[in-house]
Amino acid sequence: MTVPNLAAKATAPPAKPAFPFLDLKAEFETIREEVLAAVTKVFTNQQFILGPEVAALENEIARLAGCEFAIGCASGTDALLLALMALEIGPGDEVITTPFSFVATIGPIVRLGAKPVLVDINPDDFNLDPRASGKAITDKTRAILPVHLFGLAADMDAITELARVHSLGVIEDAAQAIGARYQGKAVGSLGTTGCFSFFPSKNLGGAGDGGIVTTHNRELADRLKLLRVHGSRKRYEYELLGTNSRLDALQAAVLRVKLNHLDKWTRLRQDHAARYRLLVQQAGLDRTIHLPFVPSGREHVYNQFVIRTPQRDELRAFLTEHGIPTEVYYPYPLHLQPAFSFLGYKRGDLPRAEKACEEVLALPVSPMLTEEQQQQVVETIAAFFRQ
Ligand SMILES: *Cc1c(COP(=O)(O)O)cnc(C)c1O
Repeated sequence: MTVPNLAAKATAPPAKPAFPFLDLKAEFETIREEVLAAVTKVFTNQQFILGPEVAALENEIARLAGCEFAIGCASGTDALLLALMALEIGPGDEVITTPFSFVATIGPIVRLGAKPVLVDINPDDFNLDPRASGKAITDKTRAILPVHLFGLAADMDAITELARVHSLGVIEDAAQAIGARYQGKAVGSLGTTGCFSFFPSKNLGGAGDGGIVTTHNRELADRLKLLRVHGSRKRYEYELLGTNSRLDALQAAVLRVKLNHLDKWTRLRQDHAARYRLLVQQAGLDRTIHLPFVPSGREHVYNQFVIRTPQRDELRAFLTEHGIPTEVYYPYPLHLQPAFSFLGYKRGDLPRAEKACEEVLALPVSPMLTEEQQQQVVETIAAFFRQ
C-alpha cells in the first residue's frame, strides 16, 4: 500500500488566540492551595509508589465508574495494554475497533502481536458501528474495543450483545469519557474492563501521565494488579510476565483533589455545550454546521465539542485568523497512518471515518470558558459563512 503524505494536509500553526483552547492555568488557580497541600503531604510521607493515596483514588474511581475494582496505572495507553494483557490477548487474536480515535486505541493491540480489525463509524455519533463490528467477527476475534469518543458513550447495548453472543471481551476506551452515562450506567462499567486516562487534557487530568482500569471481575482485577508490578505478588517471585506501570502517589493525590471538582466541571462543559446549541440556532447556523448528536439515553461529558462542516479547513483558517482557538481530532484515520500500513488498509476502505477526518472541528468547551468567549466563537463562525 502507499504511505499517505500526511505532511501535505497539515494545517498552519495557529496565530495567537484571543483565549486558550483549554485553560488549565485558570483552572489550577481555583484549586491551587488544595493541590499544593495534597502534594506536600505525599512529600512529607515519602510514600511515592502505590500506597494509601493510590488505593483511595482507586476506590473513588471504582465508585464513580460503578465497578467493584479499579487499578491505577501509568497512562491511559497502559490501561488499554494491561486490559488486553489481562484478557491474554496476543498473536493470532483479533480485536475489533475504530479507526477514528487516538493512536493509543490500537497501538497496544499491535504491541501484543494481536491484529486490530478496524471497522467504520456511525456518522452521527462518530463511534464504532455495531453492525460493521458484527460483520467483522471471525473465529479469531477475542474482543471488541469501543471508544467513547469526545465524551459520548458508544452504542453499548448492541456491542455488549454482540460480545455476549460470540463470547468476546469488551474493552471500553473511556479515556475521554469519565462520568459519561449510557442508559443511566457509568462508562467503564458496561464492558469487561473500562480504561481511563488522566492525561492533563482529559476531563479528570493529572499533573502528568496516569491511567486506571475498572472491572467488575475479581479475577481480572487480581491479574491487573499483578501485571502492573512485573507479575509479582511477593517480592522477587514472578507469576506472570508483567511490566512496571503504576500510578504515582503524587498523581493520585492531585487527582483526588480534582475529582472533588469533577461533577461541577462536567456540568460547566455541558452548560457550554447547551449554550453553543442555542447561540448556533440564534445565529441561524443550525442547518449550516452539524452539532454533536446525543442519542437518547446517553449523557455526553464533552471532553470535546465537535462540529462538522465540509468547509472545515477554510472555517478553521478563518477562526484562527480571528483569534479563535480550535483543534482537529483527528485529522487522519488510524488505518491510513504509516505505522499501521502493514495492516493493508487503503483510502476508501473506511469512508465514514475518512470523511469525518476531513470535516470535524473541535470548539473550545473547557470549564473555564466564558459566555463572552462562546459568543465570540459563534459570531466568528457566522461571519465566515456570511462572506
Ligand atoms: C488520551 C487517550 C488515550 C491514551 O491515554 P494516555 O493517558 O495519553 O496514554 C487512549 N484513547 C483515547 C481515545 C484517548 O483520548
